[in-house]
Amino acid sequence: MDHTFVLPDEDATLALGQSIARILRPGDFLALHGDLGAGKTTLTRGIVQALLGSDEEVPSPTYTLVQMYDGPAFPLWHFDLYRLEDPEGVEELGWDETVDGVALVEWPERAGRHLPGVRLDVLLEIHGDQRRARLEPKGEGWQERLHGFSH
Ligand code: ADP
Ligand code: MG
Repeated sequence: MDHTFVLPDEDATLALGQSIARILRPGDFLALHGDLGAGKTTLTRGIVQALLGSDEEVPSPTYTLVQMYDGPAFPLWHFDLYRLEDPEGVEELGWDETVDGVALVEWPERAGRHLPGVRLDVLLEIHGDQRRARLEPKGEGWQERLHGFSH
């Protein structure tokens, strides 16, 4: 099953985030791939605002590398690893605590060996003037869960 979505404007990215938020549960790890400006933080904002309320500010954690949100059902961690110099540095950011909630991670490949094998990859791509998102299950469980995904 193909999970590719065309994102004509910022609201479309936020709306996809809302749909993804509906299927999230504690222990989930979302790896957000895409170049600078592809929409990773915007998608995260859609997810966080769906779970915490639309007035929640979701800044890019460019310098702190991580921002935690206390969701009503479970916590969320938003990582931006762009400036992470060494993959081992994720441990100081509370990386292992995220199993109790949901991790939303920009520049996930910078986590090196700490990147979990079971995860949902979200690929944000810009083709010409069209933006798209593709969901790719990795490891056990996500394939089945994506069958039930509707947007
Ligand atoms: P990233 O975190 O991947 O660097 P951002 O989420 O910060 O990217 O988005 C960069 C810019 O692109 C922002 O100004 C955002 O509003 C805009 N944007 C996000 N999604 C879309 C879209 N689908 N179409 C047009 N602009 C978008
Ligand atoms: Mg960003």
